[in-house]
Amino acid sequence: MGEIADLERRLREFISKVSSDFGVSAPTIELHSPEELEMYFTGGSEVAGWYSSDEEKIILNSEFVDLETVLHEYAHHLQFLRSGRDRGAAFPFYESTKPHCERGFEREAKGFALAYREFYYNTWRKITGRER
Ligand SMILES: [Zn+2]
Repeated sequence: MGEIADLERRLREFISKVSSDFGVSAPTIELHSPEELEMYFTGGSEVAGWYSSDEEKIILNSEFVDLETVLHEYAHHLQFLRSGRDRGAAFPFYESTKPHCERGFEREAKGFALAYREFYYNTWRKITGRER
């Protein structure tokens, strides 16, 4: 098994554990190299991760995988589910005109990642074998 495929499998296991804690369906996870991400969109190789609500999928840059990024993107999944899968309600368009850090859903995702980073650190380390 390749390194990326192996990490992807571990990330899926981690997300499935977190989702069972939260009692929700798990998003799918895809891990891509920066080169692959560059084909999705210009500048994609610089992005650590994002959440596609259309597909309920977390897409991660294999160069920037860490617990905080995974939890941040996972928070967007919870926001989407909590809205009743209403993208406009979860990620209001008017927010997208603000700077990234001032968007309500981004601030919340940041806070979620910081709050749960400690909580899930041991699980993360056990499943992924990563220190951060
Ligand atoms: Zn975000």
